[in-house]
Amino acid sequence: MSYNSDVTKPMFTTMEYCVRCGMPSSEEEHALDEMGICVTCQSQEQKMHMNWSEREKMLEDILSQYKGKGDYDCIIAISGGKDSAWQMHVIKNVFGLKPLAVTFNQNWHSKVGRRNLEWCLETFDVDHIMFTPSRSLVNRCARRSLEAIGDACWHCHMGVGAFPWQIAVRYNIPLMIFGESVAENSCKGSYESLLEFNEDYFVRVSAKVPTEQFACDYIPLRDLAPFKLPSYQEIKDTGVIALHLGNYMFWDGEKQTEILRDKYGWQEDDVEGTYKRYKSVECIMPGVHDYTKFLKRGYGRGTDFSAQDRRAGLMTQEEQNRVVRDYDPKEPEVLDYYLEISGYSKEEFYSIMDRHREKVGRLSKEEIVAALEDYKKKNPEEDKNRRAIRPERVEMVADINSSKTSSR
Ligand SMILES: [Zn+2]
Repeated sequence: MSYNSDVTKPMFTTMEYCVRCGMPSSEEEHALDEMGICVTCQSQEQKMHMNWSEREKMLEDILSQYKGKGDYDCIIAISGGKDSAWQMHVIKNVFGLKPLAVTFNQNWHSKVGRRNLEWCLETFDVDHIMFTPSRSLVNRCARRSLEAIGDACWHCHMGVGAFPWQIAVRYNIPLMIFGESVAENSCKGSYESLLEFNEDYFVRVSAKVPTEQFACDYIPLRDLAPFKLPSYQEIKDTGVIALHLGNYMFWDGEKQTEILRDKYGWQEDDVEGTYKRYKSVECIMPGVHDYTKFLKRGYGRGTDFSAQDRRAGLMTQEEQNRVVRDYDPKEPEVLDYYLEISGYSKEEFYSIMDRHREKVGRLSKEEIVAALEDYKKKNPEEDKNRRAIRPERVEMVADINSSKTSSR
């Protein structure tokens, strides 16, 4: 048993933690150098030594090749989140391009998320295409996703990856703009080598099961058309290239949020599982997404964000250990909604997660259970105050239906 209940120490004594940021060795593709420093912290060092004016010049050269050539200069995939608003600011207001905004709507928008999306479209004055999968399809995908990839969000990982590429090919728009570099907060990229987009890029980076394998007896493949990437040949024929702005401009998420909030009016809100109020604010489901990560790998969003704050010198190691205890082992309130739409009982949910944890092979059931029980012991009142969390659209329709009934 490696669970350590001392709140000033890391949670699991069998895991190694990066000496600089506290990310655990159970992170995907995690590796420590001889000093005990993880890949993401090494990327942050690269970031400080990069010639950013050279990179910015590269960006200008690329953008100028596409400006004014077709009906639209580029596609910006927008969710209503902070990153997509920042991309709009940079591409439209700083570089003067004409983007087409493309949204894959996960259909789990929070109230603030929906507001921010509308706000973004009005503020930056852009044309917009949105795809929204039906409620029943989202619900079926949420059920299948837990089994297939061990979180609730396959349809979002894959839809965000595939749908903008479909639009690029269909409307012949050969430039796609993304936000943060993959190197910024994960071990999956590096600032020195620009990650290339190829056939299996998205499957590798986000969703772990391709569309054909995701289809099952209750989700026929034809229902998954919006989640299919165009063929690599189609992408090549259209000549689509994609870039992450974060590989060409120094990235500071905190500062960007300040600018968007104070200059333009972008709205923050509480996000389950963390103390930061901007990342994933557009969606109601991050609570379940990050809790499943905790059940599989022994860390969640509290760890991710406190690691960023430690890298930036905003938090001490002891503060981090305390913060992680407050967030990562907490059963999220939105789990009730997830169970309702997926049809799983709570026991089934935990037993599917047991299987995924065994596959990851880092922590035993006893260790995770000890962490969950310790959290409950320290927060005995919490279950009484659980809120019912639902997507904004579901709430809205419930309101419409109840006013119809009451006016009869
Ligand atoms: Zn680190």
